[in-house]
Amino acid sequence: MSRLPVPLTVIQALPPSTPLDRNQPPTQLIDSFGRVIRDLRLSITDRCNFRCVYCMDPDVTFAPRDELLTIDEHLDIARVAVRLGVTKVRITGGEPALHPGLIDLIRGLAGFNVDGSLDIAITTNGSFLDASTAGRWREAGLTRVTLSLDSLRQDRFAAITRSNATVDDVLAGIEAAKNAGLDPVRVNAVIVRGVNEDELVDLAQLARRLAIDVRLIEYMPLDSAHAWERTKVVPATEMLERIGSVYPLTPIGRDTTSSPATVFRFSDQPANSSGRIGIIASVTRSFCSTCSRLRITADGKVRPCLFAHDEWDIRPLLRTPSDSGALSVPSPVADGGGAERSEAEGVLFPPPRAGEVPSLRGGGGLPSVPNAHRNGTHDSHAPDPSRDAAIARFLADAVYAKTAGHIIDSPDFRQPARTMSAIGG
Ligand code: SAM
Ligand code: SF4
Repeated sequence: MSRLPVPLTVIQALPPSTPLDRNQPPTQLIDSFGRVIRDLRLSITDRCNFRCVYCMDPDVTFAPRDELLTIDEHLDIARVAVRLGVTKVRITGGEPALHPGLIDLIRGLAGFNVDGSLDIAITTNGSFLDASTAGRWREAGLTRVTLSLDSLRQDRFAAITRSNATVDDVLAGIEAAKNAGLDPVRVNAVIVRGVNEDELVDLAQLARRLAIDVRLIEYMPLDSAHAWERTKVVPATEMLERIGSVYPLTPIGRDTTSSPATVFRFSDQPANSSGRIGIIASVTRSFCSTCSRLRITADGKVRPCLFAHDEWDIRPLLRTPSDSGALSVPSPVADGGGAERSEAEGVLFPPPRAGEVPSLRGGGGLPSVPNAHRNGTHDSHAPDPSRDAAIARFLADAVYAKTAGHIIDSPDFRQPARTMSAIGG
């Protein structure tokens, strides 16, 4: 039997970072606990062709289209975030492959990849991923892909996703992604008690057979039906026991310090073999203390934590004409209860207040990154240093207010109003 090797680090043990000086332009995105943001997740749509039982209710309401950020607006945020130290951008949703501007987005992001160190990833349900699409994504600059696949049984797959897609579509998508040179290609599977925990060994076999990482995710309370119950969570320890009883596993650890997955290899395979199991134990073993993620929702809310009740609406700033003299950092918008937030959520710093954006002094502040996407066909407004400075200030303030961690396992936990599909997984 294998056990999770990583002891839980107590977030409060982290040294507080230097107090935020709002008179200085930010040079990195760092929260009040000293955690630095490296991983930006852009949700480019809240729409989806699936209605997964753990995610999206059939009668889900979508945001009006004009409230969704444009590709240019996502690129404005990403450009600034990369300047502030982000090294990985994950495109997600909803289903990002539904977005007609996806290729433009990937190309634009690739233009920020000045030294080749920017990872450009996507999470997709795989239903649109054929050889031609995978090739175009790769050619545009995508580096890696994660596909979601919760069951290998067609009847069950149909019941979970409530879609017309098939398991074979997703398997073909995995093959297409591998053939296109996307690397790594991973599979995400959400394990829900009474739904698919009896397929854990089959999913492990898939990892072995295709030589890919399969990541098993604990079911999180982010479904739009609000049907999540603690009893439906299959804990990481149980997942490992079930797989380990058939295929003994050897713990490897995390691929990077801030990676959400604890990774295991099959003990009977070589140490550097490709087929591995990753466990994302968001509920039973949260990894908040090393979190380096920042999320932008499809409608332009900045969310430092999946489970936060507070979020910051950056859309008005993105849509303020830069010559209007009105670029400012607006007050935060709570999605329903931020003010009543429990102390256990660990906010040490008040959320940002409305105020003028400090101008960049002496040309300092943001190192330069090319505005590559402006050379494309979707150039809606020219890049503007004062807008970029305002975006940087906005992101830095929101990140500084990032909470210590979530408290799913506590009786005080309240599910956020936003769902996984509306936040971007
Ligand atoms: N539609 C794409 C897909 O399914 O891959 C991308 C968006 S989806 C919200 C991103 C990831 O979140 C998927 O791997 C999905 O399985 C996962 N997810 C959605 N709801 C979840 C929940 N309640 N608990 C855990 N993971 C969830
Ligand atoms: Fe759509 Fe992904 Fe949510 Fe499934 S998990 S409903 S594919 S957004």
